[in-house]
Amino acid sequence: MLDDFTHEPRIAYFSMEIALRSEMHTYSGGLGVLAGDTLRSAADLELPMVAVTLISREGYFRQRLDDQGRQAEEPDPWALQDWVQPLDAKVALTIGGRRVWVTGWQYILQGHMGGRQPVILLDTDLEENAPEDRSITHRLYGGDIAYRFKQEMVLGIGGVRLLQALGFEILHYHMNEGHSALLAVELLRRYAYPAEDLRPGESPYDVPRVRDVCSFTTHTPVEAGHDRFAYDLVQQIAGTLIDLGALKRLAGDDVLNMTRLALNLSEYVNGVAKRHAEVSQKMFPGYRVHAVTNGVHPFTWTSEPFRKLYDAHLSGWCHEPELLIRADCCLSDDAVWGAHCQAKQTLIERVRTLTGVALNVEQPMLGFARRMTAYKRPDLLFSDLERLRAIAREQPFQIVLAGKAHPHDDGGKALIERLHTHARALAGVVPTVFLPGYDMGLAQCLVAGVDVWLNTPLRPLEASGTSGMKAAFNGVPNLSVLDGWWIEGCIEGVTGWAVGDSQMGDSGGADADALYRKLAEVVLPLYHRNRPGWIAVMKGAIAKNAAFFNSHRMMRRYATEAYIR
Ligand SMILES: *Cc1c(COP(=O)(O)O)cnc(C)c1O
Repeated sequence: MLDDFTHEPRIAYFSMEIALRSEMHTYSGGLGVLAGDTLRSAADLELPMVAVTLISREGYFRQRLDDQGRQAEEPDPWALQDWVQPLDAKVALTIGGRRVWVTGWQYILQGHMGGRQPVILLDTDLEENAPEDRSITHRLYGGDIAYRFKQEMVLGIGGVRLLQALGFEILHYHMNEGHSALLAVELLRRYAYPAEDLRPGESPYDVPRVRDVCSFTTHTPVEAGHDRFAYDLVQQIAGTLIDLGALKRLAGDDVLNMTRLALNLSEYVNGVAKRHAEVSQKMFPGYRVHAVTNGVHPFTWTSEPFRKLYDAHLSGWCHEPELLIRADCCLSDDAVWGAHCQAKQTLIERVRTLTGVALNVEQPMLGFARRMTAYKRPDLLFSDLERLRAIAREQPFQIVLAGKAHPHDDGGKALIERLHTHARALAGVVPTVFLPGYDMGLAQCLVAGVDVWLNTPLRPLEASGTSGMKAAFNGVPNLSVLDGWWIEGCIEGVTGWAVGDSQMGDSGGADADALYRKLAEVVLPLYHRNRPGWIAVMKGAIAKNAAFFNSHRMMRRYATEAYIR
């Protein structure tokens, strides 16, 4: 079945999550969406890749919210039979002293320009496995630390073995985050020199050879985002993968640190924005961390009305999004405003269906949708409700919110509740809605339909952020703290606006003040009183942000700097 793809060498792209489409619940958020955009761009650019991920039959979780905003998590199964085909290959690995068989399902990502990429989704839910092992690939980021380590064994080790069993010839391996770093350990085993060829005491592992074929992208400057496993647990579950002394030299003396493992076994390492690469470089002294700023897939994140507009005036933009740089000259004000109003109307209808609330197409709409967690500060906008009301009485606006909190993130869940409390308190003055079940489909609707895309993370913890780039493809300017990609994307008053300066650290009070001032003095007056000026910023976002922050540019850089060296 995969014959179309195994006849030429390919780049293997490993990711714990990949957002292939809304109906397949194999992702949780930004990391997965980036992985999906990576493959979508590779398809459009005809860069031969093969992706490896988990099948995640029960998804990440389905978000239920009661009227107080309390989040409950439910399994989120999806219809495998509609989207993926079973592969007949299977490979074995030993997990917790038992033999565990791993098989795969294939999904062929079909690009809108005809390119195709195979995706292998790993599955342990086979009759020949013990009941406990059958569930390893059920729930994305579910379970405890042991469950996570088993998933990472299946992904890294099972993935490499299955690619081989399927007949793939792999030129290069790309680890999207540290979850898949065990793939490099499997390569060490594969390339090890036989004992009889070694001098006494010499290591059998050919580290340079493995480093040569591996690249690693790190995604977060948040410490908790880097997986660490106690060596006791590792040995209990994995047995002796490679000599423990060698493993400790590569992955850390005290605990197995997946980031360190990936850093030591990859010749090319990068962060996902310039600032993030600098921060990572400081976190991991002694390693060279390149910067490849993220991008989003042009076609996927552009709403239908804007696709039509670009097709008519900037033909070829889907293949060369650089062409969008002409947006400010080639698109008329009326056409841009008209396309935006259509996308806004679509969002308004979606909001009405989901919440029963009727928002007003005439009034500006601020959008904020993120994983709900403390450092993203979703409540910064609501720091002073009286001030927010005072601004809205002079210059009306509305707010649309969405986002899930990780099941173990109690702080994130409390934030969702607080946002609901704020929404009630603002009723009648600032219409505010919280939409449940933030996913790819809802994101497409939100980033295109609001008037301003808001982001207020605590610096420097937003590695990149990508939703603001999606907004730019739809002529929606960003209003954001200077962190992640926005440090590179913000041209004040031209592509959007900055909140505060780029100083690091916790300046919550100052950031809130800066946000209110920018809203009241710059953003809302422009919207309400100078429509041509507003549309100029919309065009600036398209011409100067979308033309650059797209995944085609990102993939061309990975291809020339990481994959082919
Ligand atoms: C794009 C996207 C994200 C990532 O957005 P950030 O800007 O990085 O917060 C998360 N979830 C979904 C569903 C997305 O589409």
